[in-house]
Amino acid sequence: MIRFLSVLACALTLSAQTPSEIGKPLLPWTRGTLDIHQISTGRGNSAFLRFPDGTAMLVDAGAAANGEAMAFNEPRPNATRTPGAWIARYVANAMAPEPAKLDYALITHFHADHMGDVTKASAPAAGGAYKLTGITETGGSIPIATLIDRGTAYLPPPDDATMKNYRAFIAEHTSMKHETIAVGRSDQIVLRRDPQAYPSFEVRNVAANGLVWSGTGDGTKTIFPPLDSIAIAEDRPSENMCSIGLRIRYGKFSYFTGGDMPGIPDAGAPEWHSVETAVAKAIGPTDVHVVNHHGSIDPASAFFLSTLRSPVMILPAWSSTHPSQDSLKRMLAQRLYPGPHDVFAVTMREPAKASIGSRVEQMKATHGHIVVRVEPGGDQYRVYVLDDMSETPNVVAVFGPYKSRG
Ligand SMILES: [Zn+2]
Repeated sequence: MIRFLSVLACALTLSAQTPSEIGKPLLPWTRGTLDIHQISTGRGNSAFLRFPDGTAMLVDAGAAANGEAMAFNEPRPNATRTPGAWIARYVANAMAPEPAKLDYALITHFHADHMGDVTKASAPAAGGAYKLTGITETGGSIPIATLIDRGTAYLPPPDDATMKNYRAFIAEHTSMKHETIAVGRSDQIVLRRDPQAYPSFEVRNVAANGLVWSGTGDGTKTIFPPLDSIAIAEDRPSENMCSIGLRIRYGKFSYFTGGDMPGIPDAGAPEWHSVETAVAKAIGPTDVHVVNHHGSIDPASAFFLSTLRSPVMILPAWSSTHPSQDSLKRMLAQRLYPGPHDVFAVTMREPAKASIGSRVEQMKATHGHIVVRVEPGGDQYRVYVLDDMSETPNVVAVFGPYKSRG
């Protein structure tokens, strides 16, 4: 009888949470829940994560062509604000009624659609020490305790106006810690508020700068040869290949996000250009992953997909080339692994839909903020699609519950 009642209570809880939320704002985050918001701005990558104890982290704050018109531009919710400002407002809304504060902000790699872009349209910060774009705009209005990036190891960062502006932002915020990612470790990004309450929660630094977690302990493997030993200029690793990859685990649930790391080497390029291969060997089966490099022409290798076997894939599309026809075909390929291949795109543009054709209909979403809400303990999760055309994003669809694979 007790067993029957507990099953009934569980069923009631499930049915009470889903249909009633359609057309309304997402219910607020509650303690014990892991929320992962892939934010739709139409101009780059950004995700806001709320860990089970309330620790808040931002992964990227992209702003390609910050505020300037682009071909086929589809800014979300609209063009009245720059992406960094929209991201700040989204985070403030998601953390309300608490004051918005980021325990961590992490930049996967130094490209405009992940960190911001200094353009003529970029306004100066109060005091004028730096320009507002991407992370400097979001971080200019929401305090960041610790900023993490890939540092200067292996490949020197770009020497451009955006990088200089980023350094000026860091210099101005003297109370903000600035750290380089420590690959292999799980003690750099931690629960800041109540770590004892959630011992099964872990953020593992999986990759950056050609260093990949070995899969055991804090060990790492080097997959790139020494830079000065690479004789052919085309073979030198790119900024994308140096992207930070993170795996988050909570009980049986696991999630991977890896910036713009590639999986399929360009024709004639060496096999070690596939960062995805080393990452897949390290992390294995995963519940949810963010599709690398926006699903463009070089990620989502068959090996990566069939090793992770993710039932849910989040596609951070923003350009008219996201995703490529081939990448989407692989993501949806049932032959690679059984079960769901549910693909949720953030901002898929009309030219991409037109060129891909009917396969788009197999996707679960082509527009919206995509929220993965993992229940306390991590046993199961749902995926919410929120309206990205309104400043108060209502729920437009709910998928799941999906059982975490463990
Ligand atoms: Zn990118």
